[in-house]
Amino acid sequence: MDKRALIFDIVVIGAGVIGSGIAQFLALNNKNVLLIDRTAAGSAGATAYSGGIVRAYDPDDALMLLSCLGLPYLQEWDSMGMPGASPFTQSGTLYIMKDIPDNNIKIEAACSVLTDNGQAARLVTRKEIANLVPGANMQRNMVGLYEPKGGYGDPRLHTRNMVHGFIKEGGTLFENCLVEKIYFDNDVWKIETKRGSIIADRVVMACGAYLPNLVNGLPIHTQTIPLTQCYASDLNIELPVIDEETENFIRPIRGGNFYAGSRVVNKHDSPCTVGTFTNEIANDSVGRLQSLFSGKKNIEVLNGFVGFDCYTDDFRPLLGFTDNKENCFIATGFSGRGYKFSCAVAKIVSDSLEGKEKRFLPENIITQWVA
Ligand SMILES: Cc1cc2nc3c(=O)[nH]c(=O)nc-3n(C[C@H](O)[C@H](O)[C@H](O)COP(=O)(O)OP(=O)(O)OC[C@H]3O[C@@H](n4cnc5c(N)ncnc54)[C@H](O)[C@@H]3O)c2cc1C
Repeated sequence: MDKRALIFDIVVIGAGVIGSGIAQFLALNNKNVLLIDRTAAGSAGATAYSGGIVRAYDPDDALMLLSCLGLPYLQEWDSMGMPGASPFTQSGTLYIMKDIPDNNIKIEAACSVLTDNGQAARLVTRKEIANLVPGANMQRNMVGLYEPKGGYGDPRLHTRNMVHGFIKEGGTLFENCLVEKIYFDNDVWKIETKRGSIIADRVVMACGAYLPNLVNGLPIHTQTIPLTQCYASDLNIELPVIDEETENFIRPIRGGNFYAGSRVVNKHDSPCTVGTFTNEIANDSVGRLQSLFSGKKNIEVLNGFVGFDCYTDDFRPLLGFTDNKENCFIATGFSGRGYKFSCAVAKIVSDSLEGKEKRFLPENIITQWVA
């Protein structure tokens, strides 16, 4: 084989929603980029399971600003020059809290930050919540934060679009190619696969929860995220609902079909030990749903699965160069929120590797890990 074919400016390891977006943004800058994944792009890892809820509000202001940076790419897909058909459905999103003075103050403050950053948001009363979610339990003392520009996307389609766009821009994709080891030697990165070595000036590690297989000592862990697929003939859920009090969320599918979350979650050292869907998860999801709705609903569980993501203790991603040579960038730890952050992250990584001013980046979002 012509060995020059294995020399790249930048190698992105991991073709989930994060790595594929990074690769696409880098290829737009005319870089000779390789995107490499141990499976087919988007078919393993967190992206394979993701529900794709897109909301800008987060109790952590830094994460809220990160969302605001990325959401316009999803909401204005075509005019932002994104590849393929838009994977995003704009339905609005609703975040419900207990109606106490502190939460009203919190919502008003968040709405003002969101609106200043291009994501309209407003406080909604219990009555308005009942209009947005027909059947909502009016006995509950609740208040909401409504984002009309929120919605939900298809993370798999998003990933495929990014990969197609990347290839069209001249990028190289190696699928079903496990990276076994990487190291820095003689001023270049050596990326070792089972049968050979790839050389790159710079490397981006976007391996999600698998990253500890390549890099030791990072402050990350695997955490499960179960989704229960439900049907209720007397419910028509048209927008994602996040219910802080019952610690649950709903992601619409169509008609009376929807996904619901569960709090039966576990920490693991790696994705390899994540278990399967259980009755305990199904019952937990349905129990939490019943308290969102008035009267007992006939909620059928049709299916369910246990996904996982890479978590940090404070839910802030690990996003930054590993040292001041600025030739190795880590992008992981998206803590169950990586789909909505994916375009912001692609922009941050490509701007950082271009050496451009990181003008949109809230300082405290970068958790620098020094090798
Ligand atoms: C059930 C569930 C629901 C979710 N819901 C939402 C939501 O509503 N909204 C939201 O914003 N986010 C949500 N998320 C979170 C979001 O999906 C993740 O944060 C995001 O997909 C992370 O993407 P990633 O590219 O970092 O990781 P991954 O998708 O895990 O991708 C990492 C890739 O790296 C590859 N890889 C790993 N190691 C190697 C190696 N050594 N060599 C080669 N390739 C390697 C893997 O094969 C994989 O394809 C959800 C996640 C789950 C599981």
